[in-house]
Amino acid sequence: MEDCLFCKIIAGKIPAKKVYEDDKVLVFEDITPQAPTHLLIIPKQHIIGLKEARPEDAEILGYCQLVAAKLGRERNIEDGYRTVYNVGARSGQSVFHLHLHLIGGRDMKWPPG
Ligand code: 5GP
Ligand code: ZN
Repeated sequence: MEDCLFCKIIAGKIPAKKVYEDDKVLVFEDITPQAPTHLLIIPKQHIIGLKEARPEDAEILGYCQLVAAKLGRERNIEDGYRTVYNVGARSGQSVFHLHLHLIGGRDMKWPPG
């Protein structure tokens, strides 16, 4: 999608610290990390957000979670991390290309703000 920040990162038009890439997803460091590990896992296909996902997106949604679990293992943060979708502007969603936050490496509070 032309005007999408994350599509531009996928296309290499905007730089990002890439952590992992395959044919389905790209993972890169969040530019404003909220924890020692703060990665964004994004599908290469443009999906606006979780509430816009369709039944045929089920596989890529599950795949993003499994990639997060793999990276959580590799980064030794399995003692506690979060995978988070912000959904809609009121939740704080600011980029409208689906992205799963992987946040860890510090103690977490509950409930999240
Ligand atoms: P949201 O608030 O939509 O759930 O998450 C968007 C995330 O994207 C934020 O955590 C923000 O720091 C990150 N972000 C925004 N612009 C950029 C950018 O240009 N590069 C990177 N790497 N992250 C970005
Ligand atoms: Zn996009």
